[in-house]
Amino acid sequence: MTRLYDNFQPNLYKVYLDIDRGSKVITGQTKISGLAQDSKIAVNQKFLNVSGVQADGKKVPFSVDDEEETIGIELPQAGETTLTIDYTAPLTDSMMGIYPSYYQVDGEKKQLIGTQFETTAARQAFPCVDEPEAKANFDLAIKFDEKSGETIIANMPEIDLDKGVHYFDRTVKMSTYLVAFAFGEMQSKYTTTKSGVKIGVFSTKAHKPNELDFPLDIAKRSIEFYEDFYQTPYPLPHSWQLALPDFSAGAMENWGLVTYREAYLVLDPDNTSLETKELVATVIAHELAHQWFGDLVTMKWWDDLWLNESFANMMEYVAVDALEPDWHIWELFQTSEASAALQRDATDGVQSVHVQVEKPAEIDSIFDSAIVYAKGSRMLVMVRSLIGDDALRKGLKAYFVAHHYANASGADLWDALGQAAGIDLAKIMNTWLEQPGYPVVSASVVAGKLTLSQEQFFIGDGKDVGRSWQIPLNGNYEAVPQIMSEKTLELGDYQELRQQAGAPFRLNVGNEAHFIVKYDDALLNDILDNSDSLDPISQLQLLQDLRLLAEGNQISYASVVSLLKRFADSHSNVVNAALYQVAGNLKKFVTPDSKEESALRQLFDQLSAAQVKRLGWTPKYGESIDDQLTRPYVLNAALYAKNQDSITEAHGLFEANAEALVDLPADIRVYVLANEVQNYSSSDLLDRLLTDYIRTSDGSYKTDIAAALPMIPDKDLLAKIVAEYENSETIKPQDLRAWYRGVLANDHGQQLAWDWIRNDWQWLEDTVGGDMEFPTFITVTAGIFKTPQRLAEFREFFEPKINTPGLTREIKMDTKVIESRVALIENEKDAVNKAVNLFVFNN
Ligand SMILES: [Zn+2]
Repeated sequence: MTRLYDNFQPNLYKVYLDIDRGSKVITGQTKISGLAQDSKIAVNQKFLNVSGVQADGKKVPFSVDDEEETIGIELPQAGETTLTIDYTAPLTDSMMGIYPSYYQVDGEKKQLIGTQFETTAARQAFPCVDEPEAKANFDLAIKFDEKSGETIIANMPEIDLDKGVHYFDRTVKMSTYLVAFAFGEMQSKYTTTKSGVKIGVFSTKAHKPNELDFPLDIAKRSIEFYEDFYQTPYPLPHSWQLALPDFSAGAMENWGLVTYREAYLVLDPDNTSLETKELVATVIAHELAHQWFGDLVTMKWWDDLWLNESFANMMEYVAVDALEPDWHIWELFQTSEASAALQRDATDGVQSVHVQVEKPAEIDSIFDSAIVYAKGSRMLVMVRSLIGDDALRKGLKAYFVAHHYANASGADLWDALGQAAGIDLAKIMNTWLEQPGYPVVSASVVAGKLTLSQEQFFIGDGKDVGRSWQIPLNGNYEAVPQIMSEKTLELGDYQELRQQAGAPFRLNVGNEAHFIVKYDDALLNDILDNSDSLDPISQLQLLQDLRLLAEGNQISYASVVSLLKRFADSHSNVVNAALYQVAGNLKKFVTPDSKEESALRQLFDQLSAAQVKRLGWTPKYGESIDDQLTRPYVLNAALYAKNQDSITEAHGLFEANAEALVDLPADIRVYVLANEVQNYSSSDLLDRLLTDYIRTSDGSYKTDIAAALPMIPDKDLLAKIVAEYENSETIKPQDLRAWYRGVLANDHGQQLAWDWIRNDWQWLEDTVGGDMEFPTFITVTAGIFKTPQRLAEFREFFEPKINTPGLTREIKMDTKVIESRVALIENEKDAVNKAVNLFVFNN
């Protein structure tokens, strides 16, 4: 594949934009100075209406190729040149390129213009060599139909304002996808780091000023943390964080001007759950980790996207753990990232972390959060525990020195870290990076010898092609080597080893490496007999590995059911997370309104009743973090159980706060709302919550309504919700997936949502297609379907779309996901329901 950068290397862009919101037209002139290696060169464009191209002031022939998204240019000769390109472009509503966000303040409609250029949308704003390797300096000059009270911000500070044109300071050398600016009415708060970097948070005036306080503090301390950890100064004068009302991804690491979904940046400091604060802090820390890793040193090409994302995804936890040690944020890593990666990576056909891509649609399709983010960060956590923080920091510093303002590949990172640690990291890590999937290590006693063997783990059908991994075993017996490279390994006489160690045999202690363990019965029982002495992460790991083995048909699902009671009274939030994930997975084995379902509800009641009593519905002042984070799991279980005391109590809380539901304690608000819509539904309630949804500027209240309202059992009311899907005044396209998933997950609404997506697929594609979130509408569908009929319908609808760029892998994977679920239910249903009955009867 030839890249445009091979023929033309820009070094300076002078980008002039005149943006008219009224007519939705952008008029632009871009001057690009660079070195042409050939007289025939090309730059990228998309949707640009090019009126003329000059080289060094003289008109030259050009041709626009919309298929390839380029402008071909014929120069008089190769060599240094300055191109001048005049064009107009539309201001589109696609949440890519330069686009408006819509919002209201006191009923008045307003717009905030912002940008989103990753991966290949800078070319929609100005012509450029839109490849990460093509780093250059940028001079931005922007004019717009400006009204009083409006401000404009960009990667760098504004240095001049002349005849309505805002001029910004020249950027450092950077990739096109990181250029950003925004304008409109904004409020802001500022502070300064120890080293003098100006930190700012910006939002629309629909938010209360104190909603900017939490992110300002986290952003400031994150920058300070990274400057110290990376031993490399933050290279720009400022770090702005901006909340955009319309935003497709979670956030975007534009250098010096990070953009966020509102719900991932601003929050009410007086009533936001700890869970949400943790989430927002990790998002901010993630984006700011990128300011070095991604922005200062950038992947050479998109195949190494993992370099950016896996690393930032690990560093967000490293940073937040340093900023807020009491949160024990690595526990969140275990319940969210580890679990997502282990699930997704077990399906045959999954992408490897390092993956070849060329076309824009392919590039967008590799942002698989479970792989590039979650599995990738797990790989790096593995590296961190292998080499330690001292070598990690030393290696990173060398990496930044060697590649700053330039690009790097995965090999460069392994070189730098491996050299600092004195080990051949590439040899170990390439087995994880280049191969999809992960191993299950079987530990068993064979003829008295403790024996290990590795093979690829699959959920559903998988073709074993003999992959093997270099596995950091982290065993608790001395006889266990640091790395397992072999297919099988004999550790010695089991009885002797057991006696010497005085503890059950365990592997992957700390759950930091990306594999699961299948112990034989004797070894497993030994662990279970001593499970009380395990720390919470190890208990979570035990439940998680057993659940996966059951999903993968390696052990019977029914055998896991009997274990649940043993962990039900745990005060640890991670153990409860794992416990209720297993319990939640049992729901797929029962049909709606069956006696099996009511037995399962009883099981949930027996698991949760004592904990609900202990914790109560209302958060208590000064309670432990574990209690705060455990309460949601048990309340959710009590509602599924239809526990009458809980239903009454939640209803009471709803009534008491009926005037202002937003004031319900944020930790439990979603469960109070869920209880109300499930047990006291009415048309008035629906209208009330939809109105609140439209009017509130509180992101977490909005999220709560979107989660609770689709649980309404009434079909007519559900139809009213589906009727709002395409009304962006009610549900913004960025939030639609949650609403779609919610109704689809509701037995009474599934048909409605499924009919909607099939009938209006074209509308969906027109609205969010070409966006990296688009394929996830298919993912969430496959996450829910579990019957042969739905599988057949899914195939019928999606198989004809299998060659759509960017959807191929997703459709194949998701078909497999439903297939394996349908088969699992068929095989295990009777045994599981018998085990549930036995559980309920015995307790
Ligand atoms: Zn990222």
